[in-house]
Amino acid sequence: MTTPPVDVLPDPALLIGEDRLTTSSGGTLQHRYAATGQTTREFPLAGAQEVDRAVQAARAAVPVWTALPRDQRRRLLWRVAELLRENAEELALMSVVENGMPLMLATHNPAVTADLFEYNAGWADKVGGAVEPSWPVPALDYSTEEPYGVVGVIIPWNGPLASIGMVVAPALTAGNCVVLKPPELTPWTSLRFGELVAQAGFPPGVLNVVPGGPEAGEALTRHPGIDKLHFTGSGLTARHVLAGAQQNLTPVSLELGGKSANLVFADADLPAAVQQAVGGLVQLSGQTCLCGTRLIVEDSVYDDVVQMTASFLDHVQVGDPLDPQTVMGPVVSATAADRIMGVVERARGESRLVTGGTRLDGDYADGYFIAPTVFADVDNGSHLAQNEVFGPVLSIMRFSDTEDAVRLANDTPYGLAAYIWSSDLQRTHRVAAQLQAGNIWVNGFFGIPPSMPFGGVKQSGFGRIGGRDGIREFTRPKNVWIAL
Ligand code: NAD
Repeated sequence: MTTPPVDVLPDPALLIGEDRLTTSSGGTLQHRYAATGQTTREFPLAGAQEVDRAVQAARAAVPVWTALPRDQRRRLLWRVAELLRENAEELALMSVVENGMPLMLATHNPAVTADLFEYNAGWADKVGGAVEPSWPVPALDYSTEEPYGVVGVIIPWNGPLASIGMVVAPALTAGNCVVLKPPELTPWTSLRFGELVAQAGFPPGVLNVVPGGPEAGEALTRHPGIDKLHFTGSGLTARHVLAGAQQNLTPVSLELGGKSANLVFADADLPAAVQQAVGGLVQLSGQTCLCGTRLIVEDSVYDDVVQMTASFLDHVQVGDPLDPQTVMGPVVSATAADRIMGVVERARGESRLVTGGTRLDGDYADGYFIAPTVFADVDNGSHLAQNEVFGPVLSIMRFSDTEDAVRLANDTPYGLAAYIWSSDLQRTHRVAAQLQAGNIWVNGFFGIPPSMPFGGVKQSGFGRIGGRDGIREFTRPKNVWIAL
């Protein structure tokens, strides 16, 4: 196993206004490298005091940021994108050390975030408002899109840089100042991002970065100085976020988990469908929110798809995340590995294990490696099919006709993403219209383009990030009516 390049990690300091805090009320935490379980560096955790300081710094920066001419805001956002690209190699290595993401995947990350900043920079001088029709008396009625003020952003550990691009970029573009709280498992890329924002020339306090755990998260959700909250994470924590936000009736948007259906019809390009299903399973060891974890296959091709899935997985290289050939690395922590193995053990009694189902041993025993795991003949009512595993575990089940496929796909509390594979164009449109999901991909998946509105329905959350809707999420209309 390659030794992690710990020297790429940024200074462990909270970024609040112009201050760099190396001690904090939340104590310290030792970060661990998921591939070996070894400690990397210790860092200070934000407590309620630092969150309060960060909110004050952001509040002080609001008049400065909103007064900055739009073209200057645009240039600053664009400069962040340039700096992300200039520091891409270092950020990619940092992502590997941070959560065990394979280098192959981490290499794309900085460019994806840079794309999102460039896309949003383009809106910075265009977001404005509209003139509304007005009657019965002559009047000028116009709406402006105003920023909220200070936005609290809570992100998960699975892709901090991606979350930053999806959420922080539009929040800043819309004219807000931000307090970003990365999780305690993965502080590094967020801290480095904060340094790059300062280097780009942003006024101090426009972005503040306070890594921490539940204490910092709760302090942010309950803080009266927060005008809007955006939370990305699990449904369980989202309930705490909503409970905290109700104190000040702070508006919240939620990006939560999923149990997304991947529907494969008999007339589909089966190798392409299976390749994408396997890609989703192994990408970041199944720790992505929009993974198509329920592969729902038409009866007549079911056995072929199960067999093809197992053979595709035979060729997936699992192991050292720093080896550029590695496709799948470890899961994020020992706790996550134990939890996922608990789900696997329970599923053994309920479904047919096709492949995997074990922790990796030998050289991998000290890291948090789980073999990519496939269960077939899964009952959609089972624990495995109804709960987000957030690990490399795929459920395969069968459907008899289109109506059955749609029923199974929608039979879940979640509604984040769905995938359809079929060469019948009319059917794909019909099925897409019936699926309860915020985002649907047909016959392929190439990530989330910056212009795409992204988000869930049902218990996968509410609100949208991405595209024009993503900026709207961080503004509120103010209407002015003038009698003429
Ligand atoms: P999590 O809910 O455990 O943690 C998310 C964040 O909430 C972290 O920053 C954590 O420190 C913070 N937090 C913990 N307790 C808190 C509290 N009481 N109050 C406020 N904040 C608190 O989720 P996770 O394990 O970090 O991430 C995995 C989950 O995130 C999965 O469900 C996944 O599907 C979801 N996710 C969703 C999207 C999306 O865009 N829909 C993207 C990535 C991940």
